[in-house]
Amino acid sequence: MPQSKALLTLAMLAASLAPVAPAVAQEQRVDAEYTAKIKEYLQDSRITTELVDHLPASSTVPTPLKFLGRVVGMPGELTYAKDIQRYFEALDKASPRVTTWKIGTTEEGRDIVLLAVADEATIRNLEKYKGMLASLTDPRKTTEEQARALIKTAKPIYYITSGMHSPETGGPEMLMELAYRLAVEETPFIQGIRSNVITFITPVLEVDGREKVVDTYYFNKKRPTGEARLPVMYWGKYVQHDNNRDGMGQFLQLTRAVTRTVLEWRPTILHDLHEAQTYLYASTGTGPYNEQLDPITINEWWMLAENDVMEMTKRGVPGVWTYGFYDGWVPNYMFFIAHSHNSVGRFYEVQSYGPDNYVVRPGATTTSREWFRPNPPLPSINWGPRNNTNIQESAILFALSHVGKNRELYLENY
Ligand SMILES: [Zn+2]
Repeated sequence: MPQSKALLTLAMLAASLAPVAPAVAQEQRVDAEYTAKIKEYLQDSRITTELVDHLPASSTVPTPLKFLGRVVGMPGELTYAKDIQRYFEALDKASPRVTTWKIGTTEEGRDIVLLAVADEATIRNLEKYKGMLASLTDPRKTTEEQARALIKTAKPIYYITSGMHSPETGGPEMLMELAYRLAVEETPFIQGIRSNVITFITPVLEVDGREKVVDTYYFNKKRPTGEARLPVMYWGKYVQHDNNRDGMGQFLQLTRAVTRTVLEWRPTILHDLHEAQTYLYASTGTGPYNEQLDPITINEWWMLAENDVMEMTKRGVPGVWTYGFYDGWVPNYMFFIAHSHNSVGRFYEVQSYGPDNYVVRPGATTTSREWFRPNPPLPSINWGPRNNTNIQESAILFALSHVGKNRELYLENY
């Protein structure tokens, strides 16, 4: 049976590390209205998994539908960063498993925020867990023996960021639903994530740009058919796409906010969401890898990406792949802030959210079956914002679950 060495290694590691047993699942109702809309908006029945084909109901925590009046992935709609942040505040208020705070102020004076979600006891003791990661960070203060003990009690922080490139609109939308799901769902899978990982989410890094992109979308939507559309003239106050080339320069407020957060909390993994490839690309890159990267980091890139590809492929979702697109050399990307502080940085490139439905017809060089693309993108598929939500929310949940099951490994590597 053909199986890559990386997958074998992963399977052996998974078998050798006993995961922390999740609590017994409770019966939980499904939000029928929300779930029906997920099905209605999905443009292709292959782009789904059991993790995102429904939304659990809650009598206390508002869904995006209840709060915004629509589900995540509705064609023709985008959400302002200020409303995403208001939703995060509502989750914080309604759920003891969620807390949210401000991590920076943009060039134009808007808030950059962070939401943390984990089980209730972990959120209550967040400062304690921060202290454990701080101790693991500093071998001048922490002995090898103390570190060995801490690895058993500390929890990895998996920090998800999005909305750096403002026209890449889907990550910030999806992260509202992910935050809700992580806070309320009572399946063993989600409970396992909640009790073993502290998930951090910054839904929009380039807050100034997000508001301009949403303004422009709705301005154009109101234009009569056949009239010219206004392009997005600019998004960040000073910088557009190169806001992801500031990891070393530290010129922009978004970069400084992430750096401060990394230095304060020592997240184990920093995962940035983008939209510039077919279906879903999980970063590893082709090499040559930067020689300053810790060799273990490269192993972790591959373990995480192969886990994403394998779990999605196992469920028949086409077009989840790794290896190409990026080389792994240039160290000025924002997520390299993690690499320069012993952590792991990674990213997804997801097929665009839209938010209007469209057809994707990639060329033959993208649809061929390859070792890094075992179930390639199709010659043609109907796409839309719900496809984008389903594919990246599923993959990131598999990544969170994998890190939860292997939490001691990731902390030891750190
Ligand atoms: Zn991007």
